[in-house]
Amino acid sequence: MKILIAEDDKISRKMLCKIFSEQQDEIFAAVDGHQAWDILQEPAHPRLLILDWLMPGKSGVEIVNQLRQRENGHEYYVIILTSMDRNEDTIYALEQGANDFVTKPFDTGTLRARVNVGRRVVALHETLNEKMRLLTEANATISRLASTDELTGLYNRRFFNQALEKAISAGQRHHLNAALIMADLDHFKRVNDEHGHDCGDQVLKIFATTLRATIRQEDIAARWGGEEFILLLPHTPLVGAQTLAERLRQRFTQECRDQTSLAVSASFGVTEILPGEKSAPVLLRADQALYRAKDAGRNCVVSVAQKDEIKWPS
Ligand SMILES: [Mg+2]
Repeated sequence: MKILIAEDDKISRKMLCKIFSEQQDEIFAAVDGHQAWDILQEPAHPRLLILDWLMPGKSGVEIVNQLRQRENGHEYYVIILTSMDRNEDTIYALEQGANDFVTKPFDTGTLRARVNVGRRVVALHETLNEKMRLLTEANATISRLASTDELTGLYNRRFFNQALEKAISAGQRHHLNAALIMADLDHFKRVNDEHGHDCGDQVLKIFATTLRATIRQEDIAARWGGEEFILLLPHTPLVGAQTLAERLRQRFTQECRDQTSLAVSASFGVTEILPGEKSAPVLLRADQALYRAKDAGRNCVVSVAQKDEIKWPS
């Protein structure tokens, strides 16, 4: 294990280094408080420390006090070594953050045993840190999986709904418009039936890739269901969304032809989200627009503004 030995007395320092070098530890020796502190700034510095109390530059007790103020300050195991042997000295050193206190002259066996206690504590922290790292990684994976569509890598419907609610409340606060695009691949069942599901999956992936390559970073694209996709475009007027949908329509058909030699198209319904609107009527309006695009012969973009919404008799 890495051990920092900071001791200004040369003979004492050599002896300490010798004791622990024999145990295959990696020793970092410091001749005074400044050097010890410099070592503690290095990226992979020791967590097990034997510090002389009285040293030029910085005392061992000052060092431990400052170390404890670090974010990971609790991970250090610090033994203060000193010839000061009054009870109040021991109490003071422990109160400043030392884990243990050994008076000089020390018995080698006792010091080794006390350092071994430190090894166990430092090893425990290392295990704990590694477990925490794995847990953080696992959590990131879980939340990515929970928000992602497996086939296309786009967001899933669940994530999109949350993002839509957030965008709607942000838009309301800042009086900003946003836009929504719903897209549906035309006659997709035929692709699956005539060319197989692998080919169908490839077409879905091509659509997703085209989407990603066409939208801005702040836009949110999701797979809404089967061959249906949805796009949220913050700070975008209806006409801007319509232009984007048209670009998508052309690019997708082109990409599909290039990569699969199939003539697959998509229909798009576009609508705006005005400040103060709820998600349900907006989604319904985008759906209406998409329906109209299908009705108009597919492979086209239809947009419906709020004022043009068809009000179904209730
Ligand atoms: Mg000293």
